[in-house]
Amino acid sequence: MQPDSRRSLIAVIFIFILCGVAAAQEPPLKSISYQLSMSRPTSHLFEVQIIVELPEELKDKPLKFQMPKWSPGRYAVFDFAKNVQEFHANAPVTRVDIDTWSLEPQGKTSITASYKVFGNDLSGTFSQLDNRHANYNGGSIFMYVVGHKPDPVKLTIQAPSGCKIVNGRTDRPGQTEWQFPNWDIMIDTPTEIAPDWTQDDFDVDGKKYHVVVHSFGPEGNRRAALVKDIEKIVRAEVAMWGPPEFDEYTFLIHFAADDHSGDGMEHLTSTQIIQPGALGEPGVYESTLDTVSHEFFHVWNVKRLRPLELGPWDFNRPLATRGLWVAEGFTNYYGHLMSRRAGLWDDRQFLAREAQTIRGIESASGSRLMSAEESSLSAPFLDDAPHAQQINLENTSISYYPKGELIAMVMDLLVRGRSKGKASLDDIMRDMYQQFYLKAPNQSYYLRGRGYTTDDLERVASQRAGFDLGDFFKRHIRDVEVLPYDEAFAYVGLRLVKTQSPEPFDAGLSLEFEGREAIIENVRNNSPAEEAGLQMGDEIVLLNGKDVTKESWRKTLARFKTGDSVPITVKRDRRTIKANLVLGQPERFDYRIEEKADATTEQKALRATWLSGK
Ligand SMILES: [Zn+2]
Ligand SMILES: [Zn+2]
Repeated sequence: MQPDSRRSLIAVIFIFILCGVAAAQEPPLKSISYQLSMSRPTSHLFEVQIIVELPEELKDKPLKFQMPKWSPGRYAVFDFAKNVQEFHANAPVTRVDIDTWSLEPQGKTSITASYKVFGNDLSGTFSQLDNRHANYNGGSIFMYVVGHKPDPVKLTIQAPSGCKIVNGRTDRPGQTEWQFPNWDIMIDTPTEIAPDWTQDDFDVDGKKYHVVVHSFGPEGNRRAALVKDIEKIVRAEVAMWGPPEFDEYTFLIHFAADDHSGDGMEHLTSTQIIQPGALGEPGVYESTLDTVSHEFFHVWNVKRLRPLELGPWDFNRPLATRGLWVAEGFTNYYGHLMSRRAGLWDDRQFLAREAQTIRGIESASGSRLMSAEESSLSAPFLDDAPHAQQINLENTSISYYPKGELIAMVMDLLVRGRSKGKASLDDIMRDMYQQFYLKAPNQSYYLRGRGYTTDDLERVASQRAGFDLGDFFKRHIRDVEVLPYDEAFAYVGLRLVKTQSPEPFDAGLSLEFEGREAIIENVRNNSPAEEAGLQMGDEIVLLNGKDVTKESWRKTLARFKTGDSVPITVKRDRRTIKANLVLGQPERFDYRIEEKADATTEQKALRATWLSGK
């Protein structure tokens, strides 16, 4: 454990103790009931009523209602309170900060608070109400009672006439009421309300799976095949982990057909998946399965086996966890590996996908500046966060998704190779699930077991692997050293090949094409473009005297060599600026993973076990 991580761990434990004391001092409320209605769908306003029955001891104390600043699974701070309006109660109310409304019960033991929330985004985090449907994510619409997140809650939904309600906790047709053990579980239950969603079911090992689809575009008769392929993914992932804890699970899928809404969000007994296209359109089928494979893996990794800070949460401040490279990165790796194990991809497709991830990570300057742990801590900046000012994160950060994916793959191969096939990352993940979820004493009201730290994973992994992974964690997880790809791939008779791209220069530019305009989206630090004084937002008019198109601009640069000077003209504000790009060393490389000419039978067998899981 590094000194700074020890300090943060102590701080976290201290916060848990404080919360425990606060909760112990205040008795639970007698009841908390939420009523959700939507009388005017075209207004996009969800109507929420919260009825609280107070015990005698609390009837003269302030009662606070608070909107979360963010919700689990998406770590940018959104301040959901910005969409709240018309907060009223049967007691005097003061809004005390952007998220919090404080009531004076003045001796009343029954408090009714009501408010409206605007929602017109189809996503895994926000909510949407319009005349086609209501699709909500509880964190964006339900306030909690401060100090009483652990208390049981009841939810009643008044749907528009003709609409059917479904979520991952539906257990009977026509259900309009739910009891949840606490507020956290209520907001973990995204819900769809519409007249025309449809449902397919299948069983795996006695568990029921529901595929609920709401389509806003043509499906091209691909639904039956989609459900079959989802079942293959479920079978592959259950084969690795063993039986999931639930009896029923719901895939809640939207084909938005709007070219912009796209998301996947994990929950305890469901997932919310939104595809921007229609199922019948090219690539949408494959992209849906890709998301399914990732989200279903979260049933175990993150929803139950979770980093220390991921549940219960403090929604009043940004998340700070070091573990998202495991929670999301390992899930990315297994999402891809499970597509192979389910038979949806062949070996070649899987290896091509991993080579593409390696290209992305090894081409990013942030890879050498930000560690996997620091990337996780930066999640509130990185995970879909809106930025009002210009930022340099494109050059300085790395995403814990692809970085964690590669850590997982390399770790898996090192463990398989050095243990001569006796252990694998699959075993390590199962050990973690046993130790921290199934067998650990409950750490909080929220869920079974307790969260883990990076040190916990290092210890469990080293035990299972039969060798000390301390040095690996130090270099590649807490620091930024390049992963030992060569050693890892060699164990399974493969090698990573790096070649110079046919178009080897980009001069440090990332371009965005808006119609015929080529706009500079990013300038890499210490690049020819930065030396030439180019800036984000500049419009490139001419490169070497020619028009700049998506297809041509790197070809234009490819005609030059290191040390050459390429004239460039840009427009900035009302000025035209001429400059020269002085090319440095080649900057663009391609990666592929291929079989070694001298791969042995043992190495090939180890590869087959890795890819098939058998
Ligand atoms: Zn819908
Ligand atoms: Zn994920």
